[in-house]
Amino acid sequence: KDNDVLIEKLETQHDIDKEEVVMLLALKDPSKLYQAADRVRRKYVGDDVHLRGLIEFSNYCNNTCFYCGLRGPNRTIKRYRMEPEEIIQCAKYGAAAGLKTIVLQSGEDKYFKINTLCKIIEEIKKLDIAVTLSIGELSTKDYAELKKAGADRYLLRIETTNKELYQKLHPGMSYENRVRCLMDLRELGYEVGTGSLVGLPGQTLEMLADDLIFFKKIDADMLGIGPFIPCENTPLEREKGGNVEIVLKMLALSRLLLPDINIPATTALAVKDKAGYIKGLKCGANVIMPNIGIDEYKKLYKLYPGKVPDNPSEAVNSLENIKKLILSQNRTIGKDKGYRKKILN
Ligand code: SAM
Ligand code: SF4
Repeated sequence: KDNDVLIEKLETQHDIDKEEVVMLLALKDPSKLYQAADRVRRKYVGDDVHLRGLIEFSNYCNNTCFYCGLRGPNRTIKRYRMEPEEIIQCAKYGAAAGLKTIVLQSGEDKYFKINTLCKIIEEIKKLDIAVTLSIGELSTKDYAELKKAGADRYLLRIETTNKELYQKLHPGMSYENRVRCLMDLRELGYEVGTGSLVGLPGQTLEMLADDLIFFKKIDADMLGIGPFIPCENTPLEREKGGNVEIVLKMLALSRLLLPDINIPATTALAVKDKAGYIKGLKCGANVIMPNIGIDEYKKLYKLYPGKVPDNPSEAVNSLENIKKLILSQNRTIGKDKGYRKKILN
């Protein structure tokens, strides 16, 4: 009963305090929470699902994030870098297939000079599509140059807002710098995407509630929230990994707190649960990111296991599979660039 009141308050006022968020994250039967998120999603962002074509252009990484298969010290994976021309070709393929946003993602690979990235962005922008970058922490100046070249959005998950846990899992990195990056991106006029990894060892519901309060406070434009999936040859390989239901509660609460933002049903959710995309779309999500890269490289971008089957066209995140899935849910495929609608501001 109390929980019903909380859900109603969230649905109408889009604001609750931390203790109340924790109560909802602990719900035994979250169906009413999911239904409220679905109503708010329909009311604010409609039935469109926006497709963001993902190009994973390099799997080299200087960082050592404990959860990620691409971490620098992992010598067991074969590394690759796509040529600028290959990246542009993939973007052209995506644009020709009707995609309105391309996401360029990589490890933190210093090999690509900002100048080179700017030229790639300028070429892609000629296709009249939005460009999202997901290439990690950079200086204010570098972010400014990439913006000037035409980048529209940036994805940089905070991963966890618990400083102690953040420092434990990210040797050599700093929580303050992560936040500085997000503030810079906002200041420079990017649409800012962030989010959490759910199920990190030591993470509590209180910490996840803090993540949601942080997202509301910084007024994130996009939230990518997915389960942590343990990856071999990383320090966390023997950990348990994230729980699908908690991820869905985080998606639903994100939608209720920030009703007009873009929320993907993440690939990790679909890898963890065969029905992950569908469940995500029913709990507030309105974005999916099909992988439009080159098959030979997709297999090497191994953040976690199960991402790419032997035959990449059978991948859950292939463009064809995703289009079919969206239509099967009586949802529509977004035809515009899918910026945040900013209905409340
Ligand atoms: N290097 C950039 C960065 O870290 O922001 C972009 C690429 S990174 C691979 C993209 C996201 O992958 C990270 O933000 C992290 O949350 C997610 N990721 C990494 N390892 C993962 C794992 N084992 N399970 C689930 N997601 C993972
Ligand atoms: Fe590198 Fe990003 Fe993986 Fe961290 S999450 S190791 S920065 S690719």
